[in-house]
Amino acid sequence: MSFTLPDLPYPKDALAPYISSRTLDFHHGKHHSTYLVNLNKLIQDTDLAGETLENIIKKTAGDSSKAGIFNNAAQVWNHTFYWNSMKPGGGGKPFGPIAEAIQQHLGGFDQFVEEFKKAGLTQFGSGWAWLVSNQGRLEVMKTPNADTPLAHGLIPVLTMDVWEHAYYLDYQNKRPDYIDAFINNLINWEFASSQLEKS
Ligand code: MN
Repeated sequence: MSFTLPDLPYPKDALAPYISSRTLDFHHGKHHSTYLVNLNKLIQDTDLAGETLENIIKKTAGDSSKAGIFNNAAQVWNHTFYWNSMKPGGGGKPFGPIAEAIQQHLGGFDQFVEEFKKAGLTQFGSGWAWLVSNQGRLEVMKTPNADTPLAHGLIPVLTMDVWEHAYYLDYQNKRPDYIDAFINNLINWEFASSQLEKS
């Protein structure tokens, strides 16, 4: 059994003007798709074939002889989670339990914005900014390249891709502008809430 590329949870032009359909064409249709094709090839006829994506990530994390499998599996998972972390008309202040948790664990929405921006801006080179649950406590973190909180016993709540391919067509080198658009106009807080409930 092999993995298949999930559809985007919204039409390709739905995140414009913050993320263009051209970016999603490449990012979902080429980048995400390539990680998937690579993963399927790498696990074919191995004892990892038939495992869930989460198990493949956990079983190969930290094993340098399985770095190729880990990188592609984690990137497949991270991207699906990233598509779900955004929605048309999203962003801004959350409400409900996720807002209360942000208030309680991070000191409020402004504090979250500051930490999340910093995580995205200071991830040197490629990687991801995350809101995670660490045994029920919200934390902001960043990971380099394909690395994912799943490999560290943490439960992802929200993610932002800060690889250049996520923003270069729309923002060129201006990563801060992409991060602002993500926070103000794209975050899917309902999805984040549903992840927090699971943790
Ligand atoms: Mn990406």
